[in-house]
Amino acid sequence: MADKKWAMVYDANKCIACQACSVACRVENNVPENLYRLQVQMEGPNGVYPKLGMNFHRQSCVMCNNPPCVPVCPTGASHINNEGVTLVDNNKCIGCKYCIVACPYKARFVNSVTSAADKCTFCWGTRVSKGQKPACVEQCITGALLFGDLNDPNSEVNVYLRNHHHILSKEHLNTKPKLYIIPSQRGGVKA
Ligand code: SF4
Ligand code: SF4
Ligand code: SF4
Repeated sequence: MADKKWAMVYDANKCIACQACSVACRVENNVPENLYRLQVQMEGPNGVYPKLGMNFHRQSCVMCNNPPCVPVCPTGASHINNEGVTLVDNNKCIGCKYCIVACPYKARFVNSVTSAADKCTFCWGTRVSKGQKPACVEQCITGALLFGDLNDPNSEVNVYLRNHHHILSKEHLNTKPKLYIIPSQRGGVKA
């Protein structure tokens, strides 16, 4: 059987920017204060009164399938596993920041507690490798986040992607993100 290839969907139409996902991520992954693996950014108001609206944008690692953060790492700490998840081995990381510079999505930072590079891991170690969904997906109260296996044609993400127009962030860079964005019909979503 083929390895799984994990992917996430962020539907900007369903997002209300409540930040429950961001808080869940912080708790799940012990993210130090003032650092973020995930933020939901707000943009607006857009439109003309009285038809005003806000747009929301998920800022996190987009889980590139062709990740620029991996080949630049001199120690092999920054790597992609056989299920398509890019990770950092804290024991191998020397904090040189090459991967942070190489990431076109500004998704990485140095963890002030571990001194290693850090970013969204799709909750691989604590949840996904144990058959659970990522913390942010589980906590999203509006269903704006979905998670599943791209190699399974019947997975929730594949069914959703077949039925919804979607875009990839900075697609022209050929990084092949596995975070799929359903653009807001209110317009103005950053890609
Ligand atoms: Fe690496 Fe950045 Fe791509 Fe995430 S978004 S896999 S940190 S290059
Ligand atoms: Fe590799 Fe760590 Fe340097 Fe990033 S900061 S390139 S993970 S050694
Ligand atoms: Fe944070 Fe896990 Fe969601 Fe990534 S998948 S943003 S690490 S909660």
